[in-house]
Formats: sequence, C-alpha cells, structure tokens
Amino acid sequence: LFDLSGKVAIVTGGAQGIGKGIALRLAEAGASVAVSDINLESAQATVGEMKKMGYKAVAVQSDISKVAEAERTVQETVKHFGDLHILVNNAGVYPFASTETMTEATWDKTLNINLKGLMFFSQAAVRAMAAKGHGGKIVNIASVDGLHPTGNLLSYDASKGGVIMLTKALAKDLAPKGINVNAIAPGAIVTPGASGGLAGMSQEQIDAVTKAFLATIPMGRQGTPDDIGRVALFLASDAADYITGSVVVADGGYLVG
Ligand code: NAD
Repeated sequence: LFDLSGKVAIVTGGAQGIGKGIALRLAEAGASVAVSDINLESAQATVGEMKKMGYKAVAVQSDISKVAEAERTVQETVKHFGDLHILVNNAGVYPFASTETMTEATWDKTLNINLKGLMFFSQAAVRAMAAKGHGGKIVNIASVDGLHPTGNLLSYDASKGGVIMLTKALAKDLAPKGINVNAIAPGAIVTPGASGGLAGMSQEQIDAVTKAFLATIPMGRQGTPDDIGRVALFLASDAADYITGSVVVADGGYLVG
C-alpha cells in the first residue's frame, strides 16, 4: 500500500528539517526523490546521505519564490528521473512580526515563498504530469497556524491560512485530472529552522520557554520531521487515492488542548 517504487517525487525545502524527514520516507518507500532547496550545499549533503542509504536522490537548487524556477526544477527532475508523480510543497519561512513590526519586505517575502511558490510549483508539476498522461499527488505543508494563530506571526499565519484554502481550491480544480491535493498542518516540530527562534537565549531561558511550550501539547512532546514524513508518505501513496482537499493535523493534540 505504501510502495512508491517507480514513482518520482520533488520535495521543496528538502535539504533539512521537515522536508528532509519527508524525502527520507518517500525514498525509503522506493521513490526517486529530487531534493529541491535554495541552499544547494545543504541539499547535496542530504542527497549524499540518502545515496549512502541506497536511495535514489538528486539535488536541484531552486528559489521557490521565483516562478521560472518552478518550471526549471520540474524539467530538471523529469530529465533526471524520466517522470514526475509526487510534489511535496514544503519550503517555507516563518519570520516573527506583529501589527506594529510588520514591513512590506517581510510580508512579500513570506507570501512569495509560502504561498506563491506553492502555486507555481503545483502548476509546473501538473503540466509535467499531464504531459506524461497520468495523475499524481500533491502534498502541501501548511501549519496549525493556518487554523489557529500562535501570535507574532502575522504574515506567516496569513500565508498558511492561504495554503489551506489553496489546497482545497487546487483539489477541486485538479480532481478531474486524477491529481489529489492535500495538506498537512504540523504543530511544533523540532527542526533547524524552528530552533533558530531560540538563538541568543541562555539555556535557562530555553528551558523555561520549552517547558511552557510543552504544557500546550497534550502528548507532552514536540514532533519530529519523521512524524510529518510518515503522514506525507500516506498522502503520497495509493492509500490516499480517495482523499483530496483534506487537511491532516499532526500536532500531538495542540489544537484540541
Ligand atoms: P527549516 O527552516 O528547518 O527548513 C526549511 C528549508 O527550506 C531549508 O532547507 C531552506 O534552505 C529551504 N528554503 C527556504 N527558503 C526557500 C526558498 N525560497 N526556496 C527553496 N527552499 C527554501 O524549516 P522547517 O521547520 O523544516 O519547516 C518546513 C515547512 O514546515 C515550512 O513550510 C514551515 O512553515 C512548516 N512548518 C514547520 C513547523 C515547525 O514547527 N518546524 C510547524 C508547522 C509548519
């Protein structure tokens, strides 16, 4: 059921964090994976690790906020692996900004990466799937913040709310083409990006913040990239053939807490 042998996938922002967790699970299931990232060195390091594990992977540098890079990334992937069946729109940024501190630059950057990038990577992937005469699976990484604002993340919350509605709109648009589009809304996942928010704090401060934070998660632990990788594997597989336009919340119970 979760066999992805013969399938080709692109994971944006696949070099580290949640994207890497997803790339590893898809590759373990037999998919050939294009690890697309703005940071080529980091993508190459991840691909190196994956190849050592016997997986099929290639690094493709792309800045998803640039529309032309979507088409190029998809073309490079198809050239390398011969096809495309799965797109995981994962790359995203989460700059802190309140009403008072929001700038046009922060707003545009967040929306261009988190929302515009996802739209045009999907468009390019759909064209490639259609050219090959088959459907496919698109998995979008939203956030619990797209359903419930955490605070001080205004452009991020707006972008992730947009990801959830765009997922539903794409699902409706693409169902006749045999393309399923679903989203995952992760809660607090331990990644290099998320840890960046703690930079500059003393260990005492980090311990206090972490303790307060864990109290909001009924399961009492933060998630791992693999917690999300396994959900993405499910949504990218035949097991999810009748699921489209859905949002799977993977947050250790945070939203019901
Ligand atoms: P991360 O910062 O650890 O990794 C993000 C990766 O994306 C990096 O490798 C980075 O180089 C790449 N990237 C950044 N901008 C890019 C661009 N313009 N084009 C291509 N690649 C780019 O992040 P993460 O915590 O793993 O988050 C991944 C996704 O999951 C994001 O969409 C984020 O919003 C979402 N998410 C994260 C959490 C969490 O707690 N970590 C929770 C909910 C949702």
